[in-house]
Amino acid sequence: MIQLVGVIGGGLMGSGIAEVCARSGLDVVVIEVSPEAARTAEARIRGSLEKAHSRGKLSDDDLAATLARIVVTEDIVALADRDLVVEAASEHEQTKLELFAKVGALLEKDDAILASNTSSIPIVKLGAVSGRTGNVLGVHFFNPAPVMKLVELIPSLTTSIESMERMRTFVSDVLGKKPIEATDRAGFVVNSLLVPYLLSAIRMYEAGYASAADIDQGMTLGCGHPMGPLALSDLIGLDTVRAIGVSLYDEFKEPLYSPPPILERMVDAGLLGKKSGHGFYPYEVAR
Ligand code: NAD
Repeated sequence: MIQLVGVIGGGLMGSGIAEVCARSGLDVVVIEVSPEAARTAEARIRGSLEKAHSRGKLSDDDLAATLARIVVTEDIVALADRDLVVEAASEHEQTKLELFAKVGALLEKDDAILASNTSSIPIVKLGAVSGRTGNVLGVHFFNPAPVMKLVELIPSLTTSIESMERMRTFVSDVLGKKPIEATDRAGFVVNSLLVPYLLSAIRMYEAGYASAADIDQGMTLGCGHPMGPLALSDLIGLDTVRAIGVSLYDEFKEPLYSPPPILERMVDAGLLGKKSGHGFYPYEVAR
C-alpha cells in the first residue's frame, strides 16, 4: 500500500502533486533546496488549497486535515521512510541524476517506488543511477496537477511489471486520475505533439507574423483550444518549454524541436512566464 509519499521540488508541479496526494488522504513530505524555497512552496500549496476551500470544493475540516498531512522541508533524509517518491525538481538532467542516486540509496523499503515527473529526460538513465532500476518509472502529471486528469506512466526498459501495475492502480484508484502508458522516448505522447506546436507559435511571433494576442486568439477562436500557444507556454514556464525542446532535439535531431533564439533570450533574461511575472504577457506573481 502506498501511504507515505515524498515529492522532490515544490515548484509549479511539485506543489500541485503534493496537493493531489494530500487531498487523497496520503501523508506527504515535500523537499526543497533551502528553507526559503521550502517556505515559498508551503505558501504555494496553502494558497491553492485555500482557493479550493473558498470555492466550496474543500470543507473547513478537510482544509485543516489536508494541510496537516503536508510537511515541507529542505532535509532530504525525511524521504527515507516513503513508499513512493515523485521527483519534480527543475528539468535539468544532472540535478535529476544526482537526486536519483541520493534518494535511491536513502529509501529504506525494498519495494519503494522512485518516480520522475520529468517531461523529457530518459527514465532509464534515472533508473540506472538509482540502484533500484526495477522500481523507477516516469509519472508525468499535467499542469495544474490538482485539475488535470491525465497522468502519463512511462516504464523504462528496466522497470518491473509489478511497479508499473502498482502505479497504475495508485494513480487511478487513489488519486482519481486517468493514466495512459507511453514508451521511454523524450516527450512521451503529449509533449511530443504539443512542444513542436508551441515552438512553431514562438517562431511565428519571432518572425513578426502577428502579435502574441492575435496568435493566441487565432488558436482559441479558430480551433477551439482553451488557451493559445503563447499563453500556454507562459503557463508551463518558458525555461521548461525550452528544456523539453532541447531534450526532444537531442533525441530526434528534428529542426522543429529546436528552441528558437527568442525563447533562449527570454529564458536568459529571466522572463519565464507566469511563475516569474513576465513572459509573452505580464502577470501578477503569487508570493
Ligand atoms: P519549477 O521551476 O516551477 O519548480 C522546480 C522546483 O524544483 C523549484 O522550486 C526548485 O527550487 C526545485 N528544485 C531544484 N533542484 C532541486 C533539488 N535538488 N532538490 C529539491 N528541489 C529542487 O518547475 P516545474 O514546472 O514544477 O517542473 C518540475 C518538473 O516537472 C520538471 O521535470 C518539468 O519538466 C516537469 N513538468 C512540468 C510541467 C509544467 O507545465 N511546468 C508539466 C509536467 C511536467
